[in-house]
Amino acid sequence: MKILLLGKNGQVGWELQRSLAPLGQVLALDSKSLDYCGDLSDLGGLAATVQRFAPDVIVNAAAYTAVDKAESEPGVARRVNAEAPAVLAAEALKLNALLVHYSTDYVFAGDGETPWQESDPVGPLSVYGATKLAGEQAIQSSGCSHLIFRTSWVYAARGNNFAKTMLRLAQERDSLNVINDQFGTPTGADLLADVTAHAIRAVRQQSHLGGLYHLASAGETTWYRYARFVLEQAQAAGVELQVGPASVGAIATAAYPTPAKRPGNSRLNTQKLQNAFSLFLPDWQDGVARMLIETLEK
Ligand code: NDP
Repeated sequence: MKILLLGKNGQVGWELQRSLAPLGQVLALDSKSLDYCGDLSDLGGLAATVQRFAPDVIVNAAAYTAVDKAESEPGVARRVNAEAPAVLAAEALKLNALLVHYSTDYVFAGDGETPWQESDPVGPLSVYGATKLAGEQAIQSSGCSHLIFRTSWVYAARGNNFAKTMLRLAQERDSLNVINDQFGTPTGADLLADVTAHAIRAVRQQSHLGGLYHLASAGETTWYRYARFVLEQAQAAGVELQVGPASVGAIATAAYPTPAKRPGNSRLNTQKLQNAFSLFLPDWQDGVARMLIETLEK
């Protein structure tokens, strides 16, 4: 099997390099790759890459993920998050290849408290969310075989993430206030990559399993409770903190204005994925604790 991986150095892309390796020959690219174009803002170059490599599977882990910056750069965000996936879908259709793509809880308006199902109405609040939704829709309407995974609150051992930022701030600062009215589920890039590899194998054998799925760890939390969990783990591991877990302040979204609006309810119902692929999704705390051990050992 020939697999084209785009965005190889992102959180998810990095883990996919590992999880896709046993499935076949992987051509992994980023925006600066030289032999093949891996720049999603170069639509012609991207199409040429697919035509030349002729993959059986395209995995697109690249995206414009700067949520706040997207508000002032809607054109670039749309090109990378919507137009490039449309090009990949058109090329995948010609080759009869499977296209794997990632989307986000930010396609939802975020009202209510019920975990979102795949069939629920969308209503993005931000440019990022709207461009990611347009990417999904372009793939779905193209007619190509596809897997789209909507996920949330992604972290990885490599690179920066919310947990590491909380750890640093709790060591540097005298006080720490964190938002407590956005609900969602931290999801590890390693879990996403492993489930992706599993699902690719399944869809290659049973094409009717293709489609749109919600993929996140089990359970739910808020950014505030997530921060407290991180600091509790760090404290138990002997890390000295200026701000201990019990001293973290809980604030409302309104007290921390950002250019892009975020959904209050980012909970994703993952039952469809678990049923289709006979998978079990672990509690979010398991992966975060493991990532912290890796981080603290460095
Ligand atoms: P990262 O921001 O870690 O990685 C995104 C990658 O895309 C980076 O390596 C970036 O490269 C690359 N990229 C950006 N622009 C281009 C371009 N023009 N051409 C090629 N590559 C480009 O994101 P994640 O790994 O966290 O996200 C993976 C997927 O999951 C994305 O589809 C994202 O929308 C989705 N998602 C992420 C969430 C999160 O919390 N992070 C939540 C929900 C969904 P460079 O750094 O060099 O620009």
